[in-house]
Amino acid sequence: MQISQKQLEQVNDRIKALVNAGSFYGKKLEAAGITEVKTAEDFLKLPFSEKKDLRDAYPLGLMTAPEEEIVRIHSSSGTTGKPVIIPYTAKDVDDWGEMFKRCYEVAGITNKDRIHITPGYGLWTAGIGFQNGCEKLGAMAIPMGPGNTEKQLEMMQSMKSTVLCSTSSYALLLAEEIEKRGIKDKIHLKKGVIGSERWSKKMRDRIAESLGIELYDIYGLTEIYGPGIGINCEHNTGMHYWDDYLYLEIIDPKTGEPVPDGEQGEIVITTLVKEGAPLIRYRTHDLSRIIPGECPCGRSYPRLDTIMGRTDDMMKIKGVNVFPSQIEEILGSFKEISSEYQIRISHLDGKDTMRIYVESTGDVDFAALSKRITDKVKSVIGFTPIVKVVEIGVLPRSMKKTARVIDERYDEK
Ligand code: ZN
Repeated sequence: MQISQKQLEQVNDRIKALVNAGSFYGKKLEAAGITEVKTAEDFLKLPFSEKKDLRDAYPLGLMTAPEEEIVRIHSSSGTTGKPVIIPYTAKDVDDWGEMFKRCYEVAGITNKDRIHITPGYGLWTAGIGFQNGCEKLGAMAIPMGPGNTEKQLEMMQSMKSTVLCSTSSYALLLAEEIEKRGIKDKIHLKKGVIGSERWSKKMRDRIAESLGIELYDIYGLTEIYGPGIGINCEHNTGMHYWDDYLYLEIIDPKTGEPVPDGEQGEIVITTLVKEGAPLIRYRTHDLSRIIPGECPCGRSYPRLDTIMGRTDDMMKIKGVNVFPSQIEEILGSFKEISSEYQIRISHLDGKDTMRIYVESTGDVDFAALSKRITDKVKSVIGFTPIVKVVEIGVLPRSMKKTARVIDERYDEK
């Protein structure tokens, strides 16, 4: 997906703003002697930006518009080190709302819908992003925020919510609760807009089937507005993203070189019109690919495949590189197990060991099933895991992101 002339002009405009403001990337460009890009080749010479740069700019080093134009900040929670602070102008907030509104529209959601929003409100971009888009669309927002499942289900029934916005883990938890209580006929949900974590086809099918709803994947990250920069359409052939606001590249995470459309790599994003904190060639560490060709829906927005994982999710076990998504895919081929699993990696007696916990119902032979899964992992990935089958419901469900991979090697002496 080569950068267009119009996009190049927009990038030039952003470069000017960054240099004038003396923000972190402006200084980086100045140091590299770059004041403009004329061609697609020039663009590829622009230095990448990284989360670390954003952290180093804490608190307001990213601010590129005059302070009197900044109307709000958001922050991504750092699990390590300082958080990242992203300043927004009124236009940024408005643009984000437009993008989010477009997401809802692509999902066939209208101003007659009642949108039940469970992601968190606050410094995060989650809840407020879903809300902003909902209000722009003219739909009715039910701003629940996370937690309190009892209250969620009560409101869902009395408000007759038609759209559920949540993480996949929380959607699963709600689906299971609704089943357990036998209140499915009192629930009016038609669609789910699910964001912020990688999820398997199996989990998707389970939620869709259990709630009887259509599901849409939404993409986004705090550094780049927030959720709402792309969503899949009714044909479910990847997420359309908004190339009038963003330019996306897929690169080889090791070499930094662009890969051809269709090949998997790391998503790199350039914001084309952002004012408060424009980002140029920002490395997301999310893995996906551009889907070549046209979507049967006829929309001209390019498509990004489902997020396959993160470059930093890669686990090295017994010298073999493994992505959680590979294990997930293997587990997905076993009908006898649920969508939930847990991987624990430890270091025992000088050896790396991987234990995989899966859930099944009591009417299958746990030992035989465990042997079959072990053999399959061995044949696909090349090493032998220890597979433990447990009863359904034993593995943790969570309201936010479920930790499925636990690397214990660094906790041990
Ligand atoms: Zn489409």
